[in-house]
Amino acid sequence: MHFVSREEWGAQPPRYDLVYIASTQGTKVHYEGTYVPKSLAAADAHGSCAGHMRDIQAAHLANTKEDYSDIAYSAVVCPHGYVFDGRGAHRKTAANGNQTLNAKDYSVCAMLGASGLVQPTAAMLDGLVDAIEWLRQDGDAGSEVLGHRDGYATECPGEPLYAWVQAGAHRPDGSSPGGGDTGSGTEIARYQVTINGLAYGYGAHGDHVTAVGEALVAKGFGRHYQEGPGPTWTDADTLNYSDYQVRLGYSGTAPHEDADGVPGAVSLQQLLGYLPGATTSTMVPPFPGRSAFVLGRSNPAVVTLDKALVRKGYVRHHDGNGYQPGRLFTRYTLANVRDFQHARPELAGDADGYPGPLTWKLLLS
Ligand SMILES: [Zn+2]
Ligand SMILES: [Zn+2]
Repeated sequence: MHFVSREEWGAQPPRYDLVYIASTQGTKVHYEGTYVPKSLAAADAHGSCAGHMRDIQAAHLANTKEDYSDIAYSAVVCPHGYVFDGRGAHRKTAANGNQTLNAKDYSVCAMLGASGLVQPTAAMLDGLVDAIEWLRQDGDAGSEVLGHRDGYATECPGEPLYAWVQAGAHRPDGSSPGGGDTGSGTEIARYQVTINGLAYGYGAHGDHVTAVGEALVAKGFGRHYQEGPGPTWTDADTLNYSDYQVRLGYSGTAPHEDADGVPGAVSLQQLLGYLPGATTSTMVPPFPGRSAFVLGRSNPAVVTLDKALVRKGYVRHHDGNGYQPGRLFTRYTLANVRDFQHARPELAGDADGYPGPLTWKLLLS
């Protein structure tokens, strides 16, 4: 790892004492989200990176609304793959959105923008993995690697970097970070299935997910939980469910094999003793027509739509206070419907965020 200490990049001292943290569940990946010049990634431009780092710190210290003590990130990685110390190991980050999220994960930021330099370099991805491994070794970070947008309404870390996180945050040569207990080198299935109208698999959300986790723990398949089980399906749920499938005699733990940790109806019924969410299509209210869903207009059907989005866990877009059902079809409604459409193969081809009859039927059943 190419490590650049605070002294080396010319950091200002923190304004207040930083908060000690013993360990975290993992690390969240960020981008700057502003404009970052493409020239910063030039092979001979690394001399500018320390100055770029000082600019980030100065901007954070000047942010009177957040009242930051210091640069918000645990570490920052430049396009040349150097890891710049930020708050560092065993210091609580301020970048993840709120106190709970800041205590849960460290933060590592890539010097990438929403415009200008938007694609991570290979050296940068290597540097991000270096930073994640360093926080594990020196800061007792757990194996979780997520994006800032996981659990908080933000575009961060941008599409290219988020796609990399979702694919497992591997080094460009394909090796996975750290060899944590989520199965180094093994890909974890991250797709969803719908059984009896409820979603299961990575990112699925609801009481039925908690119920699966609790049943797994009760049957002795809880070894991958560092925390939980909870209402959002994580890799730990997948790994525990995979253990359970293997015990049932299923084979193949790679994605889309029988014991990949994504439930099927048979194993699920066997685990719980029942199949949650029994609904029939006759209970779905009739589709109110496309004219009920117009951006910026109110309609009672939007309340029904919103409640279904909440029930199915498609609520990551909101105005900052959580997603609440209401009569107004907002851009958040649109974005959440679009997430649902993207998650369903039947709808993904036309994921425009506006419910048609099939979106309505699938969302409400
Ligand atoms: Zn961020
Ligand atoms: Zn650099």
